[in-house]
Amino acid sequence: MEKIKKKIIVCSTCAAEYDISLVRCPYCGTAYAPAEENEYMGQLEDIREELEEHKEDGNKSLRSGLGSVVRIIILVAVVIALLLFGTMWLSGMREKSEAERQKEEFLINQGVKTQQERMTDDM
Ligand SMILES: [Zn+2]
Repeated sequence: MEKIKKKIIVCSTCAAEYDISLVRCPYCGTAYAPAEENEYMGQLEDIREELEEHKEDGNKSLRSGLGSVVRIIILVAVVIALLLFGTMWLSGMREKSEAERQKEEFLINQGVKTQQERMTDDM
């Protein structure tokens, strides 16, 4: 009577009786189809869960990848802006010094000594 609780099945190949939890016949190795299916489905479920986890990981890494790409784009934009600003500033300086040079030349042509020349004369 106690053994009834344990599900005993009869092997379809060798007719041996064995516990259903064994899945396969311990005597001839024949798989008990429904049990095997259960095991197979369990494995499938495990694989599916694992895949789901991997998918989530992939999404996460994709998101962080996008984040780093955006960061790189922002960095490049900042560098370009700085370069443009620097170039404009430098060309502005060049224009200014060009104007000063022209002014100096004009003063020299007019026979007027620049302040620097006057200072060296005093020494
Ligand atoms: Zn068997």
